[in-house]
Amino acid sequence: MTALATPSATSAGVPAPAGVRPGAFGNATHLVCRACGEKSSLGPFYACLECFGPLEVGYDFPTITRAQLEAGPKSIWRYAPLLPVPADIATFRSTDPGYTRLLDAANLAADLGLRKLWVKDDSGNPTHSFKDRVVAVALSAARELGLHVLACPSTGNLANAVAAAAARAGIKSVVFVPENLEHQKIIASAVYDTTLIAVQGSYDDVNKLASEIAAEEEGWAFVNVNVRPYYSEGSKTLAYEIAEQLGWRIPDQVVIPVASGSQLTKIDKGFAELVTLGLVEDKPWKIYGAQATGCSPISQAYRADLDFVPPVKPDTIAKSLAIGNPADGPYVLDVVRRTGGLIADVDDETVVQNIQRLARTEGVFAETAGGVTVGVTAKLIADGVLDPDAETVVINSGDGLKTLDAVSGRVGPKTTIPPRYDAFTDFWKGLDR
Ligand SMILES: *Cc1c(COP(=O)(O)O)cnc(C)c1O
Ligand SMILES: [Zn+2]
Repeated sequence: MTALATPSATSAGVPAPAGVRPGAFGNATHLVCRACGEKSSLGPFYACLECFGPLEVGYDFPTITRAQLEAGPKSIWRYAPLLPVPADIATFRSTDPGYTRLLDAANLAADLGLRKLWVKDDSGNPTHSFKDRVVAVALSAARELGLHVLACPSTGNLANAVAAAAARAGIKSVVFVPENLEHQKIIASAVYDTTLIAVQGSYDDVNKLASEIAAEEEGWAFVNVNVRPYYSEGSKTLAYEIAEQLGWRIPDQVVIPVASGSQLTKIDKGFAELVTLGLVEDKPWKIYGAQATGCSPISQAYRADLDFVPPVKPDTIAKSLAIGNPADGPYVLDVVRRTGGLIADVDDETVVQNIQRLARTEGVFAETAGGVTVGVTAKLIADGVLDPDAETVVINSGDGLKTLDAVSGRVGPKTTIPPRYDAFTDFWKGLDR
């Protein structure tokens, strides 16, 4: 039995969990309810005992300098002092995600009519999506809490990331996915010899099943369920990297794909922490969310001026974003309204066109989520919402090789010829160039 509730005072005045080694969570000191502010101890908890609101990690940061962070490894672990992980995290076996490129997207900027645009290209992560960031932090929490099975309900990319991270850490993994998932994403999980379980139903059905299993099975870390507070902190590293790569500056506006909404809310939290710590100059930034029309519960709630998110039934090719009942929905509405941004959606045809637009202009082949984000960016410029003179960052969160079907009917060989020079010249002369 692990006595997680044995009290011992911390700086935040919340009992630290016993059975957990000192420093297991770095500068994190407690969990705090995002709804009512009630604090609790660090542990495998995710819902507030007072109001059932979602819990978030709280910290007591010492002085942290740019030089100290810059001296760290070329992965998310350079920001270990800002994460709920031990100081020696880089010595553990993980996929070491992060430190992805921030592309100066001058061609796409010209195409869209923006003055300055960057693409934060998270397809460069070990399993080719931003999910490696969140899984790495969740894996650390699981290890420190003595949980021995890494698991998740997934829209695809998370399953890839969990399976790979568990393989590298040498622990067991079980991943649950909707049965109608893209073939590439199923294979890209199964190859790591995980226990992959296809579930008949939508992601929301899979998620509900996972919550039931998490409540019954001991020792399981469902990365985005019972260790979700730690998991979500991993997304802050996107904000840290963008700021550091811009020379320790925060951009004016950021466009972010939204499924559960965790990534969007944590990028905002990451910028705010950098300001609080004095690592960047304070300035306003606007956060914009992007959804596919076929699964746009938060965008619809925004338009209807609601502060809660009625669930929808997903029907879109952007399967990685197909969460009809998003856990962080109300907090996304908070962030976009507070920062002066908004959340919008585009249809599947626009998604495909914008996968092609990003590929054509910048040589970046995004998955459907990237098509959603670039598509919403284009729409917001056309609608006069995004400021064309403001410095803009667009997140590309995944890799087009995992969603080939989205474009496979639209692109291909210009011709097929026999291996003879005259056959080539016939074709080349006839080409309208
Ligand atoms: C999961 C995922 C997202 C959205 O993540 P949330 O934090 O759940 O909003 C965006 N893009 C890709 C490619 C994803 O796999
Ligand atoms: Zn609460």
